[in-house]
Amino acid sequence: MIAGHFALAAGVKARERAVPLWALMLATQWLDVVFVPLFIAKIETIDVIGGGGYGGGIIHADYTHSLVGAMVLSALFGLCGGLRWGRRAAGILGGVAFSHWILDLLVHRHDMPIWPGAPAGALRVGLGLWRWPLVTAAVELALVLWGGFTYFRAAVGVARAHGPSKLRRARIAGATVIVAGLLTLGLSVAGQ
Ligand SMILES: [Zn+2]
Repeated sequence: MIAGHFALAAGVKARERAVPLWALMLATQWLDVVFVPLFIAKIETIDVIGGGGYGGGIIHADYTHSLVGAMVLSALFGLCGGLRWGRRAAGILGGVAFSHWILDLLVHRHDMPIWPGAPAGALRVGLGLWRWPLVTAAVELALVLWGGFTYFRAAVGVARAHGPSKLRRARIAGATVIVAGLLTLGLSVAGQ
C-alpha cells in the first residue's frame, strides 16, 4: 500500500495547516523508508508469492513493521518533527507515522510480529486483505478520493480569502494531489 498512506497524509493536512504536507507525506511512508536500506542489506526481506506485484508478498520486516519497532520509529519521527514545528506537530507526525502500521495491518498477510526478533512461532498479525487485490484496490481508492478531496476543499477554502491567483493555485495543488494519488494507485495495481 502506497497511495492509501499518502491519501491519509493529505486528509490530515486539510486539518493541520501548521505541519507541511511533505512532512506528513514522509511520516506516512516513514516505516517503508527505513525498510529500504534494511531490504538492500537483506536484513528485512520479501518472499514473493504468486506472480508478485500488488500485494503479492510475505514481508519479513521485523524491525520496521513489528508493533514495537513501528512505535519506536514513529516516536523518533515525531520527536524530530517536534524539534522543528513544536509539540503539537510532534504528536501529529508521530501519529501519522504510526498510521502506516495500522493501514498495513489491514493488508499484510499475517507477517507483522509484535516485537523485532520474535521467534518463528510467535504471534504475527495482518488481516490479509491483499489476498483479494480488487477489494484492497477499492479500499485504497476510497482513501485516495477521501484524502484528495478533503485536501482540495481545505486548500480552496483557505485560498478563497486571498484573491483569485491564490485560489487558482490552490485548485491546481488540490487537483495535483488527487491525480498523483490516482496515478500512484494505478501504477501499484498495474505492477501486478
Ligand atoms: Zn509498510
